[in-house]
Amino acid sequence: AKRSGRNAIRFFDPATHAAMEARIALEAELRRALPENQFKLYYQMQVNNLGAVFGAEALLRWLHPERGMVSPAQFIPLAEDTGLIVPIGLWVLETACRQLKAWESDPGLSCLHLAVNVSACQFHQADFVDQVSTLLTEIAIDPDKLKLELTETLVLGDIDDTIFKMQALKKIGVRFSIDDFGTGYSSLAYLTQLPLDQLKIDQSFVRNVAVKPTDAVIVQTIIGMATNLGIEVIAEGVETEEQRTFLESNGCFTYQGFLFGKPVPVEEFESALNVKIAA
Ligand code: C2E
Ligand code: CA
Ligand code: CA
Ligand code: CA
Repeated sequence: AKRSGRNAIRFFDPATHAAMEARIALEAELRRALPENQFKLYYQMQVNNLGAVFGAEALLRWLHPERGMVSPAQFIPLAEDTGLIVPIGLWVLETACRQLKAWESDPGLSCLHLAVNVSACQFHQADFVDQVSTLLTEIAIDPDKLKLELTETLVLGDIDDTIFKMQALKKIGVRFSIDDFGTGYSSLAYLTQLPLDQLKIDQSFVRNVAVKPTDAVIVQTIIGMATNLGIEVIAEGVETEEQRTFLESNGCFTYQGFLFGKPVPVEEFESALNVKIAA
C-alpha cells in the first residue's frame, strides 16, 4: 500500500489503525490505574558537592499488571492529552507530601526536601493553588520542603496566570524550580519576574559538558545567570565524575544523576541514605 502523507491519513491504513487502537487501549488502562493503585513514586537523591543528600526528586512510575513498569515518557503525554494528568498529578502531590511528613518525624531524615514535577494543564487548573495549600495544611508539613518543578513552556504558556499562582504559593512558603532549563524558549526577561528558587540544568547539556565546548558554554552561562540572580542551580543527569568536577569548578554545587543514585522506591532510598550516614 502507498504511504500516506501527513495530511492524508487514510481511513483504513492498518498501521495507523493499529496505533489508534493501541492508544485507545492504553488510555482505558490509564483511566483505571489510579483507582486500582498502580502508581508509585520513586525517589532520586539530590546531593551537594560535599556528598551530603539534602533531598530528592519524586518520579512517577506506573506498575501495570501486564505490561510491567511503564515509563513516564510513555504515559505522561497521554495523561496530559486526556486530562488524566490532573487527578494523577494531585495523587503525586499528596503522596509526596505524605512522604515528607513521614521523613519529618524521623530525626535522620527530617531535613530532606522533595521536588515534584507539575504539568502545565495541572498547574493552570483554576483550583491548583487551593489544592496545594489544602494539602500542606491537612498533612501539616513545612511548606519550604516542597519544591515544584515547572518547565519553561508551562511558565510562558500563560505568564500572568503563572506569576499570580507562583506568588500565591510563594507566600505560603512553597519553592519553585525551572526544570529542563535551557531547552525551552530562551526568553530570559521572564526569569526576573518569577519568584524562583532554582534553575535545573537540563541533562542534555550536562551529558556532553566535558567534551562539547558549546555545551560547556551553555552550562557556564546558566550557572552564571543563576548565581547573578541569587538563585540556586542544580544539574540533572550527572553520570560521571568528570561532569561533576566540571560543574563544581564552574560554581554548581548541587547535583542529581546516576553517579549518585538512580530513582528507587522509598525503602531503597532510605537505606541508601543510612549507608551514607553510617559511612
Ligand atoms: P524529568 O523531570 O526531566 O526527570 C529526569 C529524568 O531523567 C527521569 O526520567 C530520571 O529517571 C532520569 N535521570 C535521572 N538521572 C539520570 C542520569 O544520570 N542519566 C540519565 N540518562 N537519566 C537520568 P523518568 O523518571 O523516566 O521521567 C521522565 C519524565 O517524566 C520526567 O523528566 C518528567 O518530565 C516526567 N515525570 C516524571 N514524574 C512525573 C510526575 O509525577 N508528574 C509529571 N507531570 N511528570 C512527571
Ligand atoms: Ca523534573
Ligand atoms: Ca528535568
Ligand atoms: Ca528532562
